Order: sequence, then C-alpha cells, then structure tokens
Amino acid sequence: MSVPALENLNFGPDGLIPVVTQDARTGAVLMQAYADRAAVERTLATREATYFSRSRGEQWIKGATSGHTQRIVDVRLDCDGDSLLYRVEQTGAACHTGEYSCFYRSMLGEQPEEAATENGLDGTLERVYATITKRLATLPETSYVARLHAGGLDRVLKKISEESGEVLLAAKNGDRAELATEVADLFFHTLFAMAEVGVGPADVAAVLQAREGKTGLKGPKEIG
Ligand code: AMP
Ligand code: ZN
Ligand code: ZN
Ligand code: ZN
Repeated sequence: MSVPALENLNFGPDGLIPVVTQDARTGAVLMQAYADRAAVERTLATREATYFSRSRGEQWIKGATSGHTQRIVDVRLDCDGDSLLYRVEQTGAACHTGEYSCFYRSMLGEQPEEAATENGLDGTLERVYATITKRLATLPETSYVARLHAGGLDRVLKKISEESGEVLLAAKNGDRAELATEVADLFFHTLFAMAEVGVGPADVAAVLQAREGKTGLKGPKEIG
C-alpha cells in the first residue's frame, strides 16, 4: 500500500478538514478541530500538531501559547479522505479549560473519566522530571525544587526515607487516598534525587523494560 499524499485529502468547501486528535499512548480522544492544507503540511513536516482556528481565522500551532504541545506520532486519513486523525504525545492538557481531554462532559450523566485513571502514570513522571530539571537550571526564588536544592541532597535523601515510611503506614492502614498521596510524595522526591544525580526516567524505564513480561525474576534484595 502506498503512502497517501495531500492530494488524497478531501478538504471541505471552506478549505478545511476535521481532525480528531488522540493520545497515542492511551487511545484517549483528546479533541476535535480543523486543519487547512497548510496546517496539514506543517504538521507532517514538523511533527507539531497544527490546526486552523476557525474563530481566529489563522493557523494554530497547538500549545503555542499554553505550552501544551502535541508531538505527532502519526497522521491518518479515513477511508474517504474527509477526516484526519492526529495521534499525539500530549504535553499537559489538550483542552483550553485545563481538562486533559475536551470530551469531559457526558450527556448521559456518566461520571467523567479521570485523565489520571485513563492515562495511568504514563508520561506524568517524565513531565514532573522535566519540570524539576527546568527549575534546577533556573532556581526561581519561590520554587520548592530550588529550596530542596539549597538544602542539599542529604536532606532530600532523608526525606525519601521518611516518605517511604509514610507509604508503608498508609498501605498498612489500607487508606487508599493517603497511599496515593504518599506514593506521589515518594515519587516526587525520588525524581528530585534522580535529577540531582543525573539519572533520567529513560534510565529507569530501560531497567524496568528489560524485566518486563518476564516471570520468576529475583527481587531487588536478592539481586543485591
Ligand atoms: P494553545 O494552542 O494550547 O496554546 O491554545 C491557544 C488557544 O487555542 C487557546 O486560547 C484557545 O482559544 C484555543 N484552544 C486551545 N486548545 C483548544 C482545544 N482543545 N479546543 C478548542 N480550542 C482550543
Ligand atoms: Zn470519511
Ligand atoms: Zn476543549
Ligand atoms: Zn508524605
């Protein structure tokens, strides 16, 4: 099958084609917007999701003002070429309301799916890590990361051990909300220590992925 080209797209009389945008990792539908030919071209060339804003009447690079960019993983056209699917890696929220997906309201009164549930942890740790490294580079006065940095690594390491204790207690008590909070605290301070030492999420992912899907592995204690 040959790769379809721009000529295979059927733009509407207004020169626009509807675009559905999907989180490539989770399959979640994030938003629907429009693109003109130039926007599709730019999307393909730069791998930055680009649309045409009907309200502003101009090209719209998603995230240009909000920072909530969409890195293109794939662009698909439908059977008859009159709509597009952008498969993306979403940074932050896709919706300008701050919701992860624009489709957070149900007309049947169903509970909104929490982005966190839908999205798992996927990408969150990377984003937090990226924020930490950014703060470490600039050390803004008001930043908690800057304060942690000023306090020295030893204090943070002590904090990690304290948070581990809190995780342990919350799990023992079966308090789910408390456990989620304490695990988040533990993850955050662990990410901070990683950033200070120069270990990235990819380094940890490589270790986890090497073990993925294998059974009968030795636990960390046995490994040493
Ligand atoms: P952004 O592209 O995220 O920098 O947002 C720029 C502007 O585009 C916002 O002020 C909104 O008016 C609009 N916008 C952003 N995201 C959406 C969306 N998912 N659906 C509709 N309009 C949006
Ligand atoms: Zn169609
Ligand atoms: Zn929206
Ligand atoms: Zn805590």
